[in-house]
Amino acid sequence: MTLGTPERPLRVAIIGAGPSGFYAAEALFKSEKALTVDMFEKLPVPFGLVRSGVAPDHPKIKNVTKVYEKIASNPAFQFFGNVTIGKDISVDELKQFYDALIFTSGAASDRRLGIPGEDLAGSHTATEFVAWYNGHPEYRDRHFDLSQETAVIIGQGNVAIDVCRILSKSVDELKQTDIAKHALDALAESKIKDIYMIGRRGPAQAAFTPQEAKELGELEIADAMVSSRDMQLGAICEAELLLADKGHNRKNMEILKGLAEKGATGKARRLHVEFFYSPVELRGEGRLQEVVLERNALSGEAGKQKASGTGEKRILPCGLLFRSVGYKGTAMPGVPFHESWGVFPNEKGKIETGLYVAGWIKRGPSGVIGTNKPCSYETVEALLADLDQLPGCEQPFTQALLDLLKSRQTRVVSFDDWRQIDAAEVARGQEVGKPREKFTRVADMLAVLEGTPAAVSV
Ligand code: NAP
Repeated sequence: MTLGTPERPLRVAIIGAGPSGFYAAEALFKSEKALTVDMFEKLPVPFGLVRSGVAPDHPKIKNVTKVYEKIASNPAFQFFGNVTIGKDISVDELKQFYDALIFTSGAASDRRLGIPGEDLAGSHTATEFVAWYNGHPEYRDRHFDLSQETAVIIGQGNVAIDVCRILSKSVDELKQTDIAKHALDALAESKIKDIYMIGRRGPAQAAFTPQEAKELGELEIADAMVSSRDMQLGAICEAELLLADKGHNRKNMEILKGLAEKGATGKARRLHVEFFYSPVELRGEGRLQEVVLERNALSGEAGKQKASGTGEKRILPCGLLFRSVGYKGTAMPGVPFHESWGVFPNEKGKIETGLYVAGWIKRGPSGVIGTNKPCSYETVEALLADLDQLPGCEQPFTQALLDLLKSRQTRVVSFDDWRQIDAAEVARGQEVGKPREKFTRVADMLAVLEGTPAAVSV
């Protein structure tokens, strides 16, 4: 029987309910094929990094979930929240129920610095901190020692900027956001005064984007400080800035120059944006006490300059450090994995016939939310091009899948269930003047649904 017809609709499972998963569903629904899309997600709640990654003080970015809700309202879409692939059900088992699988599981781990002392207490990944303040259940019990006066962030991407902003803002600036309550309470006691954001290359190479850089100059209780010395560029950097694809770097330079000219204005906290330093060692007796930085020089042609150590070292005392040097994808049993790139190896989103991939686990951890749309569309194109080669699954029945999950005591959370959790979070938020007060424990999310059987159609 031909797949993708009313007689035998194509059955696609999407694994991961972040932006790339929803854009893949959208692309499938826009095709002319008869099909169903079942989206699996480890947490009982959807939206991936839009919920757990986007900074709470960037509410407008989160409005994109309205687009995802519309996609989810398609009658051919079903959400299977609270289902962990590889634990509740394996990839091989999923293949029995679906004709094609699209992995959109993101990049759940981090790149490492590979320096001595990296794992000392007090040294964390930025992703842990971000997931903690955003109320991700797996991170909500982490502890960050905010009694320290100095915090260092290694890396200068937008994640580093987010972390700097959260550390630099007052509770008054944060309390009306959807920041998790436990994080707001902890940040209210913060003693941090000096925050260093350290980049291994120069201001012309900073990875953050101008909109985010601009916000550094608008902090209520922190002065963003940039050294004029760092802003003096060599000839190669000047040439680099003239390259056609360096528009955001040129804008960054203007903003950073403004910050260097403004200098300190006596605010309670200082955010030092520093360039040309790499951490070479983290030191401390049992816990982090100082970071050893080495001054770098750049070499190479314009647009491809690399940093290397000059031998000049500097010790920066600090008790709290965040490594923000990029995310990394993790393996999933039953799916080919490229260990050093941290992606599922693929050709335009195709891993092999029947297995596809989109988003960060396809192309690596880069780009903004919108970047995932063309990425997912490309993947769906590859999938649909394979339609005639797909063998068709053995058991095209959702009930059989549900029975299997039920036999394993998995409480499947449907999209209607999520709507209940969503409404409860929004109601809790209204009581305290926040757009939502997130549930940060899976048990609390499921408790909202007590007595409500999962409304999944078969
Ligand atoms: P990123 O943009 O790739 O930045 C990584 C940073 O780490 C760069 O400054 C990089 O420096 C540095 N780095 C890498 N390896 C290093 C090492 N060994 N030692 C020192 N520094 C090192 O990654 P990200 O900040 O994790 O962000 C991921 C993606 O999400 C980005 O595309 C970002 O724009 C996006 N995002 C967007 C927003 C937003 O739109 N508001 C918010 C958060 C994240 P080099 O440049 O020298 O490699």
